[in-house]
Amino acid sequence: MIPYGKQNINQSDIDAVTDVLNSAWLTQGDKVPAFESAIAKYCHVNFAVATNSATSSLHIACLALGLSTGDRVWTSPISFVASSNCALYCGARIDFVDINQDTANICINALKNKLIAAKKLKELPTILIVVHMAGLSCQMKEIAKLAKEYNFSIIEDASHAIGAKYQQKPVGNCQYSDITVFSFHPVKIITTAEGGVCVTNSTVLNEKLTLYRSHGIRKSKEIMANQGDWYYEQELLGFNYRMTDIQAALGLSQLKRLDEFVSKRQELASKYLEGLANLPLRPQLQSTESHSSYHLFIIRLTKGSPITRKELFEQLRALNIGVNVHYIPIYQQPYYQQFGFAEKDFPNAQQYYEECISLPMYPDLSHKDFDYIISNIINLLSEKPNER
Ligand SMILES: *Cc1c(COP(=O)(O)O)cnc(C)c1O
Repeated sequence: MIPYGKQNINQSDIDAVTDVLNSAWLTQGDKVPAFESAIAKYCHVNFAVATNSATSSLHIACLALGLSTGDRVWTSPISFVASSNCALYCGARIDFVDINQDTANICINALKNKLIAAKKLKELPTILIVVHMAGLSCQMKEIAKLAKEYNFSIIEDASHAIGAKYQQKPVGNCQYSDITVFSFHPVKIITTAEGGVCVTNSTVLNEKLTLYRSHGIRKSKEIMANQGDWYYEQELLGFNYRMTDIQAALGLSQLKRLDEFVSKRQELASKYLEGLANLPLRPQLQSTESHSSYHLFIIRLTKGSPITRKELFEQLRALNIGVNVHYIPIYQQPYYQQFGFAEKDFPNAQQYYEECISLPMYPDLSHKDFDYIISNIINLLSEKPNER
């Protein structure tokens, strides 16, 4: 089966990991801080706090922003469940803002209207978590303007979007957000096996993220000087969400090839767009403002398609083409039934879910596999008049 996504591991990655295994520090050594500095530098941001997953990063991002019981968090319904679960971990209430039909990112107009209505009801969100779907940045400038007007914080769930650009600057520079989160799961753009990171420009948030990541414990030179070298203080209820040095070494090695990975993904996307032109489908709408990192390549079947999405999915899988669906709207999950969301409140997300399919997208996808994918899709989606 040709997978929909796949990591790229070379000898330098293996050597970097082996070096750590042969060293004194498997965790809490110097590789995690080195990885954090390299990420911060790449993203043009002041601070990076690495964790054992993007899910953990989203959790501590919410906590660092002071999210607590009864607060409200809004996010996109078309995302992985981790984007909204982080609010529930903190006892907050979750709600969704419908997506834009063309980009599958949060819809600015839907957000505006929902904010106006929520203000009247005194039910404004504390945090908005935006998701850069498939690596395409949301319209952050417009969203930040609304954040100022309605007084909410912004977390960018950029799990798909390391290496992407918005207004010519790297996603993660936090010009328009409080915290940005990246994922390093193997299907994402660079990997540490499991892993994630929070980046921020705020000294205060950086300090809180660092505390929440490791038990809420502070071990500073000053407090040790007063008490003794063994001494540390637990200031708040944190977790063990630390990344290991083995993972960070892999991440550092992968980061060197990030730009190369992204340009290969972008090349592949152009080839898909060319190869699939004139078929009853539409790709995610790109813009001059956002340069996607193409974590995913998603197409949507349009009305003229001779087969349904389910049929296309099943037939491509039968041909050993590992297509996927990103995502089932989060409010449809059985666990979310208790919150009483209505499908009719998210018409764009509903329609998107009926039509979307993710095609294989990773730097090492061979020409042969690519041609095989394209010719089969053309075959399946071309009108077959003599069969009608
Ligand atoms: C992958 C992903 C996550 C979770 O990342 P982990 O590192 O696996 O915890 C969160 N949000 C989105 C949008 C993702 O794609």
